[in-house]
Amino acid sequence: MPVFVGIGANLGDPVAQVFDALARLGRDLPETRLSGRSRLYRNPPMGPRDQPDYVNAVARLETRLEPRALLHRLQATEVACGRRRDGTRWGPRLLDLDLLLFGGEVIDEPGLRVPHPGIAERDFVLLPLLELAPGLMIPGHGPIAALCRGMPGTALQAIPEEARA
Ligand code: ATP
Ligand code: CA
Ligand code: CA
Repeated sequence: MPVFVGIGANLGDPVAQVFDALARLGRDLPETRLSGRSRLYRNPPMGPRDQPDYVNAVARLETRLEPRALLHRLQATEVACGRRRDGTRWGPRLLDLDLLLFGGEVIDEPGLRVPHPGIAERDFVLLPLLELAPGLMIPGHGPIAALCRGMPGTALQAIPEEARA
């Protein structure tokens, strides 16, 4: 069952942070394989405005981990990449890893909700998901393509990768 993880960074060198996170997802997680990723997108911040733009992407994983074990591994990866929790919701961070989808599962537990609660409203999640999996169905929300068609205008910009050394 494919699993999708949202990656976001807006401190340090966000593009480098996102590539580092992708490498770690492919390398450091037990019983887990990185099977795809979207392009990287530059995006104005959500919530507090006085912070740098975000860089966002979505990774596809194949895993035998349980959802909660995977979430713990994602949180450990955030910490390994220098994340410190200061209590500010949507505040600046070196790395944010959100468990967006776990196959077709619906989970509503303290500390873990899947599909991720923001999934249907966030262009920086929907557009990379559409790119990776155009036929995707999001439990409780329907086809990804319909969600993207219903989106208001977007300020999201794909980052050209040829520009990278
Ligand atoms: P948002 O969740 O709206 O994107 P955020 O990413 O800034 O905001 P965090 O501070 O990273 O929020 O996470 C807050 C809590 O969300 C975490 O402690 C985690 O337990 C919980 N959580 C619930 N569901 C999920 C999920 N699907 N993926 C990641 N964290 C989740
Ligand atoms: Ca988030
Ligand atoms: Ca998060």
